[in-house]
Amino acid sequence: AEKAVKYVYDFTEGNKDLKDLLGGKGANLAEMTNLGLPVPPGFTITTEACKVYLESGEEPAALRDEVSAHLEALEQKMGKKLGQPDNPLLVSVRSGAKFSMPGMMDTVLNIGLSDKSVQGLAKQAGDERFAWDSYRRLIQMFGKTVLGVDGDLFEDALDKAKQAKKVTDDTELDAADLKKLVTKFKKIVKSETGRDFPQDPREQMDLAIRAVFDSWNGERARLYRRQERIPHDLGTAVNICSMVFGNLGPDSGTGVAFTRDPASGQQGVYGDYLQNAQGEDVVAGIRNTVPLAELERIDKKSYDQLMQIMETLENHYKDLCDIEFTIERGRLWMLQTRVGKRTAAAAFRIATQLVDQGLIDEAEALKRVTGDQLAQLMFPRFDEHAKVEQVARGIAASPGAAVGKAVFDSYTAVKWSRSGEKVILIRRETNPDDLDGMIAAEGILTSRGGKTSHAAVVARGMGKTCVCGAEELKVDTKRRRMTIPDGRVVEEGDLISIDGSTGKVYLGEVPVVPSPVVEYFEGRMHPGADDADELVEAVHRMMAFADRKRRLRVRANADNAEDALRARRFGAQGIGLCRTEHMFLGDRRELVERLILADTEAEREEALKQLLPLQKQDFVELFEAMDGLPVTIRLLDPPLHEFLPDITELSVRVALAEARQEPHENELRLLQAVHRLHEQNPMLGLRGVRLGLVVPGLFTMQVRAIAEAAAERRAAKGDPRAEIMIPLVGTVQELEIVREEADQVIAEVEAATGEQLKLAIGTMIELPRAALTAGQIAEAAEFFSFGTNDLTQTVWGFSRDDVEASFFTAYLEKGIFGVSPFETIDKDGVGSLVKAAVQAGRATRPDLKLGVCGEHGGDPESVHFFHEVGLDYVSCSPFRIPVARLEAGRAAV
Ligand code: PEP
Ligand code: MG
Repeated sequence: AEKAVKYVYDFTEGNKDLKDLLGGKGANLAEMTNLGLPVPPGFTITTEACKVYLESGEEPAALRDEVSAHLEALEQKMGKKLGQPDNPLLVSVRSGAKFSMPGMMDTVLNIGLSDKSVQGLAKQAGDERFAWDSYRRLIQMFGKTVLGVDGDLFEDALDKAKQAKKVTDDTELDAADLKKLVTKFKKIVKSETGRDFPQDPREQMDLAIRAVFDSWNGERARLYRRQERIPHDLGTAVNICSMVFGNLGPDSGTGVAFTRDPASGQQGVYGDYLQNAQGEDVVAGIRNTVPLAELERIDKKSYDQLMQIMETLENHYKDLCDIEFTIERGRLWMLQTRVGKRTAAAAFRIATQLVDQGLIDEAEALKRVTGDQLAQLMFPRFDEHAKVEQVARGIAASPGAAVGKAVFDSYTAVKWSRSGEKVILIRRETNPDDLDGMIAAEGILTSRGGKTSHAAVVARGMGKTCVCGAEELKVDTKRRRMTIPDGRVVEEGDLISIDGSTGKVYLGEVPVVPSPVVEYFEGRMHPGADDADELVEAVHRMMAFADRKRRLRVRANADNAEDALRARRFGAQGIGLCRTEHMFLGDRRELVERLILADTEAEREEALKQLLPLQKQDFVELFEAMDGLPVTIRLLDPPLHEFLPDITELSVRVALAEARQEPHENELRLLQAVHRLHEQNPMLGLRGVRLGLVVPGLFTMQVRAIAEAAAERRAAKGDPRAEIMIPLVGTVQELEIVREEADQVIAEVEAATGEQLKLAIGTMIELPRAALTAGQIAEAAEFFSFGTNDLTQTVWGFSRDDVEASFFTAYLEKGIFGVSPFETIDKDGVGSLVKAAVQAGRATRPDLKLGVCGEHGGDPESVHFFHEVGLDYVSCSPFRIPVARLEAGRAAV
């Protein structure tokens, strides 16, 4: 017989490593249960059950009985039955996927309450008001999330009840008011759904479980997953947990806590506490919380216990944890923990602190940070010395310096940002419906809510600047404006600046300055110096860890001495791609034009002769900047028409000259040449090695310039290490011809100068045919450098210059890929060609040197791939070098 699949796990059965099956929340509840921490008993329905439901539209057949068995066990443990009229057990039904998706999916509390059991709860708690409050919360949450009733209907009814009583706070409504409200809520459910609010507790539970499953495919959840690159097929687990109550009076409450500051990494007491309130009140930022430290005064016993649990958790998880807890009449309960989200700066600081505490080693520390975080830390920040007009200060929720036009709703944020405007999304508080506006905005500003409010948590996750809880601001979203403390009004479209590292809000545009991390890489700030901040120290140490671990070398794509020197300061171990076309622009363009237009061999040779010393000087400077390190110089690649004037502009010039009867012989010749060189598909046309083969003398001039520059550097006691690279090769024959000519030129220069130049000659692999015949090509190449930009273009048949602006958005929205293949290497397609070419190339020539110089060389995920397929180095733009070093280190541990 088939072995039965187990769909339900008691909290005592799971552990933290079962996140795939139990989701993050379920796995960690189990872990805490097994650590002996006070977790209310419960059980978890697996993601497997969810997957069956999502695929078939029905829960697996065995699920019902398994849930019954676990519910019975839970009832026995608690000594009461779900919804039992005189002594009810109540449960929460909470979603919990493998990766945390804050606020994206559904949760229902107080399941088990009904017209009958509400009386039992009142007796149990000795508090009638509390019982009716819990019941109205159930109908409200259940109505909204399970039955799909518009939540505003309940909110409006609640507001009306408060107005009728002339009170502002929920807690001022008494049992009788709440009883009436329950009647009203039930009417809303009936009129909106055509059915009564279900009185059968088990039916409530089953419907809530199904609603959680369904919420996996809710629009918000899908959008969030796409943004965070979370796969769509994981499904969510469902946690059924016996209820504990934070709303049983002043000796009860609920809160969230971090074992360290998630913004800076500093150890201490961080969190928010809300007295006499139930779970969601804190995260939703509905009422204002007090700092966690206040709990010591409110309830010292629970506070001390919480501090001890936090220490236990940190030592156990060896990382920053965040926690949700509830105190029920002086008794502390842990409702959730997980390894907490943190800012980029905190990630670096915490990783090094944990190494110092002996909790983790260097390899583990590298796993705790990412290249994306490092890239974030290299963003500029506001200039401290700028003249600014600060108008408010909120909570520094997610760091960064953001400037943009004020917008007050998500729709406008998206619309304006699509038309190229930078916007700051301002809300009283955010909720999951604001997600696409948050993605579109440069930064997010709210007037309510703490460090754990929705805005703060989501912004931190996205690495987006956020200031929250700026209470001095009166945000009026209906009229699209906010009032600042002195009474002035900021209208939609006004420029503002927000600093997510300090919480400060400024009117107008504040200028920005480079980040200290960049100052460090530039060598203008030194770790160990008095003014070096802790972040710089942490980054410095993490880079050292990465450099010790990594196997991949990191080179730069750089075309001039200035970029080369910066790259070197940033840790580049050579130049992997010098694009010589960049040396053919500016005032040399005229020479290039003459070369292209030459009618006779003599004319062409004259143009080349004039270009030669200029090219040579470029290389001398580059070799000097990179003395002792390899410099790969690629011969001319782009189609020649790129060096000629634009065809339309030129036609106009000719027409004008004709009309005015001015001489225009040159323009006419140019126009003819432009027409002659015009191609429908220039990227597939006369470019790369093809140019070298049909424009006599072009490549040999470049080779001569390289050889002479190397000879000159050697004569000056330098150590030039040039490598000559041929672009867009599709067959070994092309390479052989160019190689033969190049060898001859090099021999001539060696003979003339008496220097042994040792110039390596290799090729780019950037066409599918080159990758497929890499074994043959390696016969004529001493190195390969994968040009993954062109390789992606040609493997997919995507024009690299057009697609991102045309149909990629649609492709991303449809989930055809989660990220552009021009950004992260397409492992299955392009990647498998790279892998095959590596193997074939090395089979022919075991000491073949292998690198990559497409944009992917600086992309974190791609760097890991290049490590795995065994390349020797990646090459990327100078500013990405630290990221590539770090990721190469991470790939190796
Ligand atoms: C490439 O194609 O990946 C490459 C590095 O060359 P270019 O981007 O200059 O075409
Ligand atoms: Mg290319």
